[in-house]
Amino acid sequence: MSDELPDPDSSHYWEGISNSELRYQLCNSCKKSIFYPRSICPTCGGNDISWQVSSGLGEIYACSTIYRAPPKYKDKVPYIVALIDLNEGFRMMSEIIDFEGQVVSVGKRVQVTFRDDIDGKPTPYFTTID
Ligand SMILES: [Zn+2]
Repeated sequence: MSDELPDPDSSHYWEGISNSELRYQLCNSCKKSIFYPRSICPTCGGNDISWQVSSGLGEIYACSTIYRAPPKYKDKVPYIVALIDLNEGFRMMSEIIDFEGQVVSVGKRVQVTFRDDIDGKPTPYFTTID
């Protein structure tokens, strides 16, 4: 995620991250949540899209422990990358952190937290909750 460049669709998202808000889009035509940000609804093709702020709460849809990482991240291994289903109905990829002593598995409840990534850029991560 850290390699994404700001563009007209995602700049509002990254502005939210800088303010510790996880923002997503909602299609006002079909009422589906949209993520990642884009200007056309992938469900109905409509362009009446508004920005919302997520609760940051969700559960793990899928997860994988990374043992061999790109050179930039080799000092982090092992780490856990997950697909997370947010309560508002969208799915995003992130990293699970601060899970010591907890089992990280499908269905585990998680909550967003904001930290600087390896480049010092504010980034959404997730921690497990009970
Ligand atoms: Zn739609």
